[in-house]
Amino acid sequence: MKVLVCDIQGFVVCGEFLPKEIAINNGQQISHFLIKPSQDFSPLSQQDKKTARYLERYQHGLKYSKGFVSHHEVPEILNILADADLVYVRGHQKHDFLVKHFRYCPPKIVNLETYDWSPPLPKSSQPICMYHHGKSRICAVTNTSDIFNWIKNFMPD
Ligand SMILES: [Zn+2]
Repeated sequence: MKVLVCDIQGFVVCGEFLPKEIAINNGQQISHFLIKPSQDFSPLSQQDKKTARYLERYQHGLKYSKGFVSHHEVPEILNILADADLVYVRGHQKHDFLVKHFRYCPPKIVNLETYDWSPPLPKSSQPICMYHHGKSRICAVTNTSDIFNWIKNFMPD
């Protein structure tokens, strides 16, 4: 059975979730992408700028304007998940984003937060990637490794 774990860190612009960092982990290898913004920072609304700065400083620590992959390539990146038997994510925003992408023929995508007995992820001892700044640094790469470890410990076979 092909099991993949996907984690996405992003921004919200005009109410829409925009991925900034995508990591896909099969338990042995990780694909990692930092996505360029689909629009510049300056024309964003004051509220979106405020939210973006908050995320940069206090959540994932990724800069809004950074990235090395065009946002046009996001659908192709997400298609890595297409032939998985099971895709695990953690968080309704990421789950909904993936389900929306695979509108017609989705792989089975499970949001681990929907399990009542799901304990929180332990504080990771794994290194984070080098694109994070700020006080809090939540990394999609580290999250996928932590989730894989968590699955090994808590999920039924
Ligand atoms: Zn990272």
